[in-house]
Amino acid sequence: MELVFATNNIHKLQEARLILGERVSLCSLQDIGCDIDIPETGDTLEQNSLQKANYIWEHYGLDCIADDTGLEVFALGGAPGVYSARYAGKEHDFIANRKKLFRELNGIDMRSAQFRTVITLIRGGIIKQVEGVVEGTITTEERGESGFGYDSMFVPKGETRSFGEMTADEKAAISHRKRALEALCKIL
Ligand code: IMP
Repeated sequence: MELVFATNNIHKLQEARLILGERVSLCSLQDIGCDIDIPETGDTLEQNSLQKANYIWEHYGLDCIADDTGLEVFALGGAPGVYSARYAGKEHDFIANRKKLFRELNGIDMRSAQFRTVITLIRGGIIKQVEGVVEGTITTEERGESGFGYDSMFVPKGETRSFGEMTADEKAAISHRKRALEALCKIL
């Protein structure tokens, strides 16, 4: 089975190839000659991942998947959520985003949160969506230097270390993306 993964992020591609196995041949946006930044203008993770998958289906007629991820902090009504990448501004600045989240949670004890990944699959024009969630808590200070985004401020439930204190393999084994990819595997 051939699928386009609407991403050029090599890490996401590698992770997805590992989980989906040999029966799925995944190619990137670059592989199909798509070099535009597909717009993500939705208000939800579901809308954004659908928007990206739809773009590939409508412009290239190829079966495809697209993902969107957000960190949902319950005390903040689910923020930053779909706006996780640009929480502190358009620049997608991870450091500024983390600083803003620490500021917003200053003095708040309820620090439960979850990473949620939504994957949209379009095959033969039929749309399906799956999600993967990892629950946890937001730390009060940065912990660890590995990973990216909000990793150094998120401790998954049942763990003592933050994602930022784990190796890439340790994180990948329990991550929201892995769970979403496993859910996708089941419906393929
Ligand atoms: P994307 O949908 O994978 O591009 O993720 C959107 C934003 O969510 C990223 O820019 C990060 O700020 C954040 N994010 C997504 N996945 C992770 C993760 O695994 N760890 C930390 N932050 C993440």
